Amino acid sequence: MAVMIVFDFDKTILDCDSDNWVADGLGFTKSFEELTSTMPWNLAMDIVLGKMHSQGITIEDIADCLRKAPLIPHIASTIKTAHSLGCELRIVSDANTFFIETILKHHDLLDCFSEINTNPSIIDNQGRLRIFPCHDLTSPNCISNLDSCPPNMCKGQIIERIKANAEEGKKKIIYLGDGKGDYCPMLRLKKEYFVMPRKDYPVWELICCNPSKIKAKICEWSVGEELERTLLNLVRLINFFEDHKADFNNADVVLSTALDCKFQLVALSPHKAFALPPVPL
Ligand SMILES: [Mg+2]
Repeated sequence: MAVMIVFDFDKTILDCDSDNWVADGLGFTKSFEELTSTMPWNLAMDIVLGKMHSQGITIEDIADCLRKAPLIPHIASTIKTAHSLGCELRIVSDANTFFIETILKHHDLLDCFSEINTNPSIIDNQGRLRIFPCHDLTSPNCISNLDSCPPNMCKGQIIERIKANAEEGKKKIIYLGDGKGDYCPMLRLKKEYFVMPRKDYPVWELICCNPSKIKAKICEWSVGEELERTLLNLVRLINFFEDHKADFNNADVVLSTALDCKFQLVALSPHKAFALPPVPL
């Protein structure tokens, strides 16, 4: 099918930050705060997990805590619907493999995703959860030379590979995110693609400083209902144009115009009036 959706995880799928959720839920808020003030976030989380282990907190305790973390309202049904509409779904997140897989599995969503790009994690032979940086901390990682990428992960680097995959499959990318780290990948998407920044969150503020830097079409969202409506309308619209390509001289331009009309697709040519498939929302 025609669409590849790339999701950030924390505050885009999960309605909180998973590292904070685990640190707070297991009584390590202060310790985590102290560590993050002096070192990269990713490293601080690994140390906190070590402290948890030395105080007798097990992997199962951490998993139990993760399973209680709230999802963004409507996100589970949105993911399942997008998957059933034939979209390819991927995650690019600065959380870690264990946290993301535990949460997605619990909500029966893991199988909807074809790829999870995040910081790797292992459970060592003492039963302690370890997390490692996605990218080497010793060299400058951000391919756009931005301060907004954390030292352990440049999502822009990851999106470059995803873009190549999308182009091979002739798919359009829709990228959703809220954080500063989502700015670099959003900058790297071309005008035929779509970015869905979360309104009033850090990535949105970065975009607002100079919106013309973003080449992709911007479709904002702020709460789950809006994410669901905007994303699924976009998917249906892209699929519709893909199916009716032959009827338009330049489907991308018409798609763009339809989006400017806030999805109110009306008569697109004098002799042909198309109606979008009904949106059950
Ligand atoms: Mg996020």
